[in-house]
Amino acid sequence: MAASVTLVLATTNAGKSREFRQLLAGEPFALRDLGDYPNTPAPDEDGTTFAENARHKAAATALILNQWVLADDTGLEVDALGGDPGIRSARYAGPNAKAGGNRELLLKNLAHVKLAARSARFVCHLALSDPAGTIAAESSGSCRGRILFEPAGTGGFGYDSLFEIPEYHRTLAEIGEAAASCLTHRARAVEGLRGRLLKLLWQSERTS
Ligand code: IMP
Repeated sequence: MAASVTLVLATTNAGKSREFRQLLAGEPFALRDLGDYPNTPAPDEDGTTFAENARHKAAATALILNQWVLADDTGLEVDALGGDPGIRSARYAGPNAKAGGNRELLLKNLAHVKLAARSARFVCHLALSDPAGTIAAESSGSCRGRILFEPAGTGGFGYDSLFEIPEYHRTLAEIGEAAASCLTHRARAVEGLRGRLLKLLWQSERTS
């Protein structure tokens, strides 16, 4: 496949985009994100599951741009909080919350929970839409860990600096890109989709 097919990542989040670009580096398509389409309206994220939100982001963005679009919806599920913040991960500390405010609220809500009970997982759902807004493939991935008492590390984004992979004694913000590229929820979801993604984009190029 020549790199003439474009795949748009439905995100303006620099951390997500960087991770996707690493995971999909070398694949034969031109990768873009919403930074390349600055006037694209952000789709609502008012679904009740990660899957619903990812499908809606992918299909709505594809219809606007008339391009193949890959969207993810990701969140953190903390066992001691009954699965919160879950699909509200982006707005945990309020409608205009920033990552720092979300992390602070998470630490506050877990302040009296012992390390052994701070288990959590990241969940990532991916949806691929064709240019007509039809979902053509989906995949999910998760990554288990636990929430530390204070941030550690400067890499990653969002909740990464609080999320420790116990086997590595490192947070996702400390672990480095090479390890992250096979361990994370997003990496696992991409692996589950890669074969179908390549096949669909290849077929689309052949018929265009
Ligand atoms: P969304 O998928 O863009 O809705 O992200 C939900 C929230 O989870 C945002 O606050 C992100 O910063 C955070 N988030 C999403 N993916 C990750 C990740 O891979 N690591 C850490 N935080 C993440």
